[in-house]
Amino acid sequence: MTETLNIGGLEFEIRRSSRRKKLGLTVDRSGELVVHAPEDADKEELARWVHSKLLWVHQKLALKQEMTRAAYQPEFVSGETIFYLGRNYRLKIVDDQDSPLRFDGHWFFLRRKNVAEAPKHFQRWYSETGSRWLHKRVASWEHRAGTVPGQVTLGDLGYRWGSCGKKGALHFNWRLLQLPVRLVDYVIVHELVHLQERNHTPEYWRTMDRILPDWRDRKSELETGWQSYMAFGVENDCKKK
Ligand SMILES: [Zn+2]
Repeated sequence: MTETLNIGGLEFEIRRSSRRKKLGLTVDRSGELVVHAPEDADKEELARWVHSKLLWVHQKLALKQEMTRAAYQPEFVSGETIFYLGRNYRLKIVDDQDSPLRFDGHWFFLRRKNVAEAPKHFQRWYSETGSRWLHKRVASWEHRAGTVPGQVTLGDLGYRWGSCGKKGALHFNWRLLQLPVRLVDYVIVHELVHLQERNHTPEYWRTMDRILPDWRDRKSELETGWQSYMAFGVENDCKKK
């Protein structure tokens, strides 16, 4: 039987494990809330702890809900606007072309017979073109940040822009490449600083202050403005690769 907690109108599933030492809380893709707890954790203590995390949970759920729908759903017709690094480029549907999707620095050219699977081709384009750009960009910040990541990857992170993985690996969401460089830089620096300070401690934000003094502006711009650049949110991406 599943053990649950009801707090603040939300249901949390409790998953106990003998290997677990500290309490943890996750919001998974479908919005399910899970509390990870040591085997012998006291239920009242769990309830108090979850209560103290409610604000964070609500923020996560709101963000998830927003990211589920893209700001605008492209129809893939000629003349439409697609963003790359915050600049808008026009789309042109063409009949004859060697590859499904091509970019000449001014226009995106999409082959007519590939229109139905356009999101897949765009995702591939952002991942390939963006990956080269991103590696250079991360490298350009390493010196100032004083950290060098073990590996840099661009992939599908769902609702997150970036994350810091094992062995100093940094992972970024390919959808990020639609946003202006100053916002991508914020995400890059945010993750680079995590390589020296895993959590958002006062020390963490002091380091951010030093490396990117206007990070607060960029952070709030990212939180409030990202939608205007997003043709490819989480909802309308391609599930099949
Ligand atoms: Zn962080």
